[in-house]
Amino acid sequence: MHTSVVLFTADLRLHDHPPLRAALDRASTVVPLFVRDRAVDAAGFAVPNRLAFLADCLRDLDAGLRERGGRLVVRSGDLVEEVCRVAAEADAGEVHMASDVSAHAHRREDRLRTALEAGGRGLVVHDTVTTVRAPGSVTPGGRDHFAVFTPYFRRWSEQRTRPVLDDPRRVPVPEGIGSEEPPDRRELSGLSPGLARGGEREGRARLAAWLRGGSGDGKGAGDVGDGKGAGVVGDVGEYEDRHDDLAGDATSRLSPHLHFGTLSPVEVVREAGGLGGPGAEAFVRQLAWRDFHRQVLAARPAAAHEDYRTRHDRWRTERAAREEVQAWREGRTGYPVVDAAMRQLRHEGWMHNRGRLLTASFLAKTLYVDWRVGARHFLDLLVDGDLANNQMNWQWVAGTGTDSRPNRVLNPVVQGRRFDPEGAYVRRWVPELAEVPGAGVHEPWKLRGAAREAARGYAERVVDLAEGLERFRRARS
Ligand code: FAD
Repeated sequence: MHTSVVLFTADLRLHDHPPLRAALDRASTVVPLFVRDRAVDAAGFAVPNRLAFLADCLRDLDAGLRERGGRLVVRSGDLVEEVCRVAAEADAGEVHMASDVSAHAHRREDRLRTALEAGGRGLVVHDTVTTVRAPGSVTPGGRDHFAVFTPYFRRWSEQRTRPVLDDPRRVPVPEGIGSEEPPDRRELSGLSPGLARGGEREGRARLAAWLRGGSGDGKGAGDVGDGKGAGVVGDVGEYEDRHDDLAGDATSRLSPHLHFGTLSPVEVVREAGGLGGPGAEAFVRQLAWRDFHRQVLAARPAAAHEDYRTRHDRWRTERAAREEVQAWREGRTGYPVVDAAMRQLRHEGWMHNRGRLLTASFLAKTLYVDWRVGARHFLDLLVDGDLANNQMNWQWVAGTGTDSRPNRVLNPVVQGRRFDPEGAYVRRWVPELAEVPGAGVHEPWKLRGAAREAARGYAERVVDLAEGLERFRRARS
């Protein structure tokens, strides 16, 4: 066959890329294509932080292809129309792409297959490009997905992980296929100032540093980022002990790379799994959580918007709780660890997992506001904002998802004292409290004397915790 199109979506890399490998094996030239999908923009998912990261990824992908004799073709518009147009221009016989899990991705794939077949062309969809295990490949007997993580993880761990594919040496691209300029982050406004940098090279450097730290060679992982948000990478070897340490910032920060597919989850799991030890094992387990949420969403696409399991909640709407929601968004709830995490989100477009858990619990349970209000705010800012991970984690916290203890409520004072015992995380993100020493920073309302004076500019509490808890218990009883 002469030419194939490789449609890049959430797999913006050259290493370990099954669609690209298959296309190169079967055709003499390939058109590497990215379509800026109008439907994604219309649905409000194209927010500045992710657009900037995407711009970095596309420029890096284009550069990587050029080093291999090719280039990236970028188009924008209706994805199906654009792919068919490019396939016709290149007289391509097949289009290769990665499978994906959302309702939008399913519809897109169906439409694309029908349109290509009408033109006498084929669509080849590849699994295990954006996940380690294909959704639907790890199932309990007689059902289409696992609703509980632990048995899922057991099965997930029993399956073989496919081998990692090398990046291609050459990518021959046919002449004469028009392309837009890949976007440039410098043209975007409204970005979080500490936003991490995107691209496959950046992702691979970060992964290497993270794993090198865990290899026990005595060298700490280096700083592989440029902004504050890109920060110093922790160490996989210490992951099990330190992943919840808010101030220590000791997680991989690979989430945007996994979201945009600049890193292959198969490669990450193989590399980390190969190191062995409790840190690497705990880290691989988190990658399985990622697959877990994807297989839930693939089987129940409506869970992106509807309760996965209804608790018959009568959520407070944004309108009913306007001031509290605004205080939560702006990081001035009066609960320091909540406010620190919400400010980290605004500043970096990223938040520590422990912060995500406790801020989500604060909104959905303490304030008893509809989880969708919080999920939307996260998606507006998170550079790793991801329909499966975000919505299913929000549902997990709200008690409408897969948590087996749906009524648990995280107390922000207890969480702060436990996961930020010295108060360093709060002092880093809440300048009004920067002069308050020690763990007392988690309860500024109890401060006396000079410490109270130092905390003077800080917000009053928007809710009394006991009242919030009582409201939630009444609603759920
Ligand atoms: P690490 O701790 O280093 O973990 C490695 C990788 O495992 C992560 O990059 C991620 O891909 C995966 N992972 C880790 N924890 C989870 C988890 N609980 N669920 C699924 N995958 C996980 N993650 C996103 O990628 N996008 C989101 O939009 C998102 N929204 C979230 C919203 C809420 C309310 C909560 C509680 C969690 C959310 N998470 C989301 C999951 C998790 O917080 C992030 O993946 C993690 O904080 C990213 O940091 P890291 O890369 O340093 O993670």
